[in-house]
Amino acid sequence: MTLQAGASREVDVAVIGSGPAGLTAAIYAARADLKPVVLEGEPSSTSDQPGGQLMLTTDVENFPGFPEGVMGPELMRRFRDQAVRFGAEIHTLKASRVDFSTRPHSIWVGDPAAAAPTLRAAAVIVSTGAQSIMLGLDREVDLIGHGLSTCATCDGFFFRDQHIAVVGGGDSAMEEATFLTRFASKVTVIHRRDSLRASKIMQQRAFRNERIDFMWNSVVEQYLGDSALAGLRVRNVETGATSVLGVTGCFIAIGHRPNTDLFDGQLPMKENGYLLTEPNSAATAAEGVFACGDVQDDFYRQAITAAGTGCMAAIEAERYLERLH
Ligand code: NAP
Repeated sequence: MTLQAGASREVDVAVIGSGPAGLTAAIYAARADLKPVVLEGEPSSTSDQPGGQLMLTTDVENFPGFPEGVMGPELMRRFRDQAVRFGAEIHTLKASRVDFSTRPHSIWVGDPAAAAPTLRAAAVIVSTGAQSIMLGLDREVDLIGHGLSTCATCDGFFFRDQHIAVVGGGDSAMEEATFLTRFASKVTVIHRRDSLRASKIMQQRAFRNERIDFMWNSVVEQYLGDSALAGLRVRNVETGATSVLGVTGCFIAIGHRPNTDLFDGQLPMKENGYLLTEPNSAATAAEGVFACGDVQDDFYRQAITAAGTGCMAAIEAERYLERLH
């Protein structure tokens, strides 16, 4: 079926977002015969492309069930095929506006100023994910999975006995750097100031670790290497001097941003912008609206935990609809 702007098509379940959380929710909702309609996003940018962050990943070796590992895009293709197999209707479209004050809930695609919404959904599952904040340098997207990474838990293993860099000075950077010393011969933390933002305990752990050294007052200016990262051009912001750091891996740990702009004024958020859900539940404060995956998880941020919360959201939506009908 196609989706027509302004048609106000009534559906039981709409899923906004198509990473591991959204597609798991779609699989469960489809198998419950709720005929979910999924707005999977549009391949326009790195933030809200269909499939989410795994589309920017190469080898995934920690997703259970794939002992030999699996490429991120291939894993997401399998999630998607499984959802389609059970009847999920997936559209390569983006939601442009939502109104959760009405019931059924309204979702617009295309012109957000249109009088009538595209969909009216009895239950909505929000799974728009999050994105790692990046440095914005040339070739950044191309090098992800080829020496450049945003997840030490996922990719640290590939850098055994290599010299790698971590960019950032917060808790994430210290955690990543410390974790990476399990594999790397040396980890250089590149931080733009002369003191860390990280909590004292995380700082001390990193300072004590003999495999970690620090480049203070320094910013990465350029990624070196052709098809894979072969080094970084680093500039000292105090002196202006540039140098080349010969690393084969670089982990960017300067924070994450949840994709929640669409829900501003519609759903309560934590101070850091992540959606608030009830404890041990995917329920948001808006009745019939459930949130799952990285858009509401600022702690684990793993594909497997996202999939788990997607399952929770679908089961809760199903029970909500049972009560409603
Ligand atoms: P964060 O606290 O916001 O730190 C981001 C770091 O990246 C800062 O040091 C910042 O530098 C630097 N940075 C930001 N933009 C940059 C840019 N464009 N270029 C270079 N450097 C840049 O983010 P986070 O470390 O991801 O932590 C987020 C939250 O999660 C925090 O509340 C943290 O405590 C929490 N967290 C906790 C744990 C834990 O307890 N185990 C682990 C991870 C995260 P400046 O310092 O100069 O601003």
